[in-house]
Amino acid sequence: MEFTKNLLLNFSILMVLLFFLQMMIERQVQSESIRWINLLFYSLSFIACIVFSTTIANGVYFDLRQVPFIIGSLYAGLSIPLFIILVIIRGIVGINYGFWVSTFVFLFMVILFCWVRKWFMNLAANQRVGVSVLFSFMCSLILMMIVLLKQVPIQLTETWVSFLVVPAIATGFISSTMELIRQNSLMRKQLVKAEKIEAVSNISASISHEIRNPLTSVKGFLQLLGEEDYPVEKRNEFLKIATEEVNRAEQVIDDYLTFARPALEQVEEINVQDELSHVFSVLMPLANMHAVEINQVYSGNIKITGDRLKFQQAFINIVKNGLEAMPSGGFMTVETVKSTREVHIIIKDTGYGMNEEQLNRLGEPYYSTKGKKGTGLGMMVTYSIIRAMKGRIKVSSIVGKGSVFHVIFPNPHSSEKLRSQNS
Ligand code: ADP
Ligand code: MG
Repeated sequence: MEFTKNLLLNFSILMVLLFFLQMMIERQVQSESIRWINLLFYSLSFIACIVFSTTIANGVYFDLRQVPFIIGSLYAGLSIPLFIILVIIRGIVGINYGFWVSTFVFLFMVILFCWVRKWFMNLAANQRVGVSVLFSFMCSLILMMIVLLKQVPIQLTETWVSFLVVPAIATGFISSTMELIRQNSLMRKQLVKAEKIEAVSNISASISHEIRNPLTSVKGFLQLLGEEDYPVEKRNEFLKIATEEVNRAEQVIDDYLTFARPALEQVEEINVQDELSHVFSVLMPLANMHAVEINQVYSGNIKITGDRLKFQQAFINIVKNGLEAMPSGGFMTVETVKSTREVHIIIKDTGYGMNEEQLNRLGEPYYSTKGKKGTGLGMMVTYSIIRAMKGRIKVSSIVGKGSVFHVIFPNPHSSEKLRSQNS
């Protein structure tokens, strides 16, 4: 039983590491850092498997190292670096018969994986799980055959069975977990997109209203110019007003288009004031329609890091909700405050507010009190964007009085400042 016990121990360690890997990857947006985290996770998995392996014969150790190798090669496309890491780690333990068998088998797998990876990624989720299990079984079988060819005595059938079955089960379990995680993150991305489309179509209704007004007045002036013989001064005045109106309409369209453009994931320095003013200019038509007066109070030049367009999306959702909560007019204030460690963005409205239950359910997918007009996804998307940017959000509200959304981000310059003070 010792052998099976060791394999199961390997399996539990892999599961714990997988859990940490996912937690770390969730917080990353740059693909380069995800690659490094993956490499670290798979290296740690190899070390853990080899440390808790079972000696079958002199220089031959059986463990689950093939599982992270197969998963990392197929899902993360890291077969070559993983092979090098594995050979180095195994080499440190000792360069003996087992080392050469392992190197040979894994080299064969690298070639195989490089060849099938594209095909593998195009399979359906359950097919991918099946194929991973099959590869794992095949790897065990080849290892076992080679070891037996050398007439290493493996007396116990338990060893046979365990080595063929446990790695396959472990691979199946881990690849199903990977699939679940992939599906969840895919769904989250789709929700962000769906909510954006919803916001775009909602806003476009008020924008067309905002564009029709200047167009009507321009049309009026053009008609006037054609109908009567006005003095040059009067004509120039009409032309000036008409040009201003056209410029305004153009500005409305420009603002809207920068928001509606598909987002590229990109981490950069965000100028909080610029982005918030942009959010308010996009939503100005909606605010005008609801007769809401907006007051913006920005303190200094505040910068944070993150994806600029996602940041806009997060605040568009908050501000849009605030405006929708004031159907018959009101006031909205946005205020930014910077402390050494944090950046605070506070958005207040004088809308209908939320009760305790509504506050608790805020951010829950599909929770909406707006019936057909709402998607119930806006706040969920906002929460997930703010969380990904390492921020947090506090909401307080009084029914009939209004709500306050307090968003707090870490100040990216605080760590630099502390570092320069210490040195
Ligand atoms: P939706 O706007 O599509 O209903 P959200 O996720 O954006 O979905 O908001 C969920 C619910 O939270 C809203 O239906 C509304 O009841 C409540 N809510 C959000 N923001 C406010 C606010 N500023 N004032 C009052 N209620 C709000
Ligand atoms: Mg909303």
